[in-house]
Amino acid sequence: MQNFLKWLGALRISLVSFVMIVCIFNLIAFQSPLLDYALTVSDLRSSGGIIQIISLQILQICLLAASLFLLSGLSVSLMRWVVTVLFICNAFGLYFMISYGIEIDRSMIANVLNTDSREATELLHISVIVPTFFLGLVPALFVLSINLDVPKRVWRFGYGIGSILILAIWITMTSFTMLWYDNHASRMGGKILPWSYIVNTARHFNRSALDNREQTLLPDGYFLSEKPAKREVVVLVLGEAARADNFSLLGYKKNTNPFTKDHQLAIFPIGLSCSTNTISSAACIFTHEGQQAPSRTKFEPLPSYLTRHGIKTIYRTNNSGPPPMTVNIYQTTKDISDSCIDTNCPSGAYDDTLIWNLDKLLKEANADRVFVTLHLTGSHGPAYYKKYPPEYEHFSPVCKTVQIAKCTRQELINAYDNTIRFTDQVIANLISQLKSLEQTNATMIYVSDHGQSLGENGYYLHGAPIAIAPPEQRRVPFMVWMSDSFKKSRNLTNASILTDITLPHDYPFHSVMGAFQMRSDIYKPHFDIFNTRSGGS
Ligand SMILES: [Zn+2]
Repeated sequence: MQNFLKWLGALRISLVSFVMIVCIFNLIAFQSPLLDYALTVSDLRSSGGIIQIISLQILQICLLAASLFLLSGLSVSLMRWVVTVLFICNAFGLYFMISYGIEIDRSMIANVLNTDSREATELLHISVIVPTFFLGLVPALFVLSINLDVPKRVWRFGYGIGSILILAIWITMTSFTMLWYDNHASRMGGKILPWSYIVNTARHFNRSALDNREQTLLPDGYFLSEKPAKREVVVLVLGEAARADNFSLLGYKKNTNPFTKDHQLAIFPIGLSCSTNTISSAACIFTHEGQQAPSRTKFEPLPSYLTRHGIKTIYRTNNSGPPPMTVNIYQTTKDISDSCIDTNCPSGAYDDTLIWNLDKLLKEANADRVFVTLHLTGSHGPAYYKKYPPEYEHFSPVCKTVQIAKCTRQELINAYDNTIRFTDQVIANLISQLKSLEQTNATMIYVSDHGQSLGENGYYLHGAPIAIAPPEQRRVPFMVWMSDSFKKSRNLTNASILTDITLPHDYPFHSVMGAFQMRSDIYKPHFDIFNTRSGGS
């Protein structure tokens, strides 16, 4: 090793050779997901297809070379450190792309940056060490140790500008490939290393800055009756990565809903989620615009709107990424388990913590109207087996590693089905608690934020760009429970609220308003499932 380092330390190459070696290594080591995809969307029997692939190589070399030459113009050591960090990040990126079949687009970056440390450690596996060592640390050693013949600053900037000119000339000569780039930009943009995470991290922070703008208040609302005849409690349960196809209530062959089966839920037909990631779907569910919302909506979300109108709001979460909001009580599962002084405290790890003593909290809530949001961790992958207590391992054998490609498909599906079955238990217990509330009209809406891929066509997890998202990532359940007194007071039955087509992320906002008999200029009766006279439902 010492000899190797000595040999490395004695090596001397020109800056131009160094940059070329870095660019070629970047292509050889980190391009496979991009190239695999590009080859499937190019016709290599035609000269146009071959030029598309060559063009992709030239684009990558020129972009990276231009950036490195311009950086070296500022400082050669800065350039060395940037290359070092890029190699290590690339090795991580490649590992996750190949292991989980993901693409590093903006929403994936948002997921990574918003994922709490517990979820992040679940994604990590010891096998990440090998690619990080050979593709990240060893090349980094080369980059930091080798001696460079550095030309004058003006030449370094000159090489950078030269690389941009070569790229510009190439693009002009092969302008017929632009349509190909245009058609596949979103997919290739999520696979091109290092640009996928550099550009998408910048886009993420740009988006966050826009999200943090002052929220636009929605128009003031009013209630059809000033004081309700009975206390009104509405619970919105936001599921995580629970796909409709694995609910026995929706026709799945395995019994994943044994606990809610007798609770007389209104089971809506399967509908499509707004997006395939938690943050966008949560934003979509909480806005009055639903799926019509632009991705940068700045209207106040549902919980804030209700809080402003005097409704007591409680937000309990075992997840991350809700839009900024104002509520009366905000509790994470950790807050809930930390606050427990009983002998029978919840662990804080599982979703059942979210309903711990909720009935007590509701009984003590001194308010005529209470809105509760429970944000589950549900079926968040890939560590499905960690999402339910061991005694809920009903379907077995299960996959017990985050390297899901190493498990059989059946083991993976068993672990996933156990998460759906455990969620079913949580919902059933929640309904039992709501039933125990006296003098209360209670309703519960359950909807998942998005679906999940379990290996269909090589896809795992979620987060595929919406234009090409496989149906498994968007088909979500939408289920409603109404207390007998609520049904009676509103003259409703399960059958009367059901719709032919479900818009699972458009309904919650207006249905929650409807459950409280709240109205305002933004209220859309056709999205209120409890307003059966609207004609839309
Ligand atoms: Zn999610």
